[in-house]
Amino acid sequence: MPAEYSSHGLWIVGLGPGRSEYMTSRAVEVLSHVEYVIGNDSYLDAIEPLLEGKQVIRSSMGKEVDRAKKAIQLAQVHPVAIVSGGDAGVYGMAGIVLEVLEHEGAIIPVEIVPGVTAANAAASVVGSPLSGDFAVISLSDILTPLEVIEKRLDAVFSVGIPVVIYNPRSHGRPDNFALAMEHARKYYPPSVPIAIIKNALRNQGSDPVTTTLGEIGNCIEEIDMHTTVIIGGTESRIWRMGNNVKGIITPRGYHRKYVY
Ligand code: SAH
Repeated sequence: MPAEYSSHGLWIVGLGPGRSEYMTSRAVEVLSHVEYVIGNDSYLDAIEPLLEGKQVIRSSMGKEVDRAKKAIQLAQVHPVAIVSGGDAGVYGMAGIVLEVLEHEGAIIPVEIVPGVTAANAAASVVGSPLSGDFAVISLSDILTPLEVIEKRLDAVFSVGIPVVIYNPRSHGRPDNFALAMEHARKYYPPSVPIAIIKNALRNQGSDPVTTTLGEIGNCIEEIDMHTTVIIGGTESRIWRMGNNVKGIITPRGYHRKYVY
């Protein structure tokens, strides 16, 4: 569906994890072309220098449907970008915008510009925890019932693969992360490594913490809505350089085929 620069249309843009150097050049190019930029406050603040001369519409969390409708309405006559952090298709705006677009029967040029999602950003700062199959689960129960999330956690932990947890903990749901760890303990030994990555690849980023399922209880207070947590799988192990714990390695399986 690539829409080259027509006089109107909608660009659904993933901005990456935070720092501008992790945005794709396509995203930068699209933002320089559009007349309107619509997004949630915190994401717009992060791209302030790219917004000069643009009509900027700031929205707040929880107003995604209104934001989608507004973007579609404007995109009938103007070039419009609707922005999401990370990748717009991963717990972002792409899905809801396409649903509303389809429902309204609007026919306009649309392009989805992918971005580096939190799973990739977080993994990159703790080694290579996601080298093979892995799963991604959000603990936000705003749009998905908690029973469904628990079933999915059970399913993925039961096959022993690494699990990336988005939306692990917030004021509104302080207990979902501890609940997720109870599910992990049914399948994983206490030695399974866990990485806690807050504000990955953002200016305010802090050092990631690598711990284990057995010790995770001591770190729960550090986990918030700006954090991604990577639970290693049954084959994952702590990555060390000298005496320092650097993160997690999940061997992809080369050791089964090669000597190195
Ligand atoms: N569309 C976004 C995800 C939105 S859901 C993406 O693709 O990354 C919001 C959750 O993403 C947060 O609660 C957090 O778990 C995770 N997240 C987003 N950016 C992050 C970052 N820079 N560092 C750590 N976690 C991040």
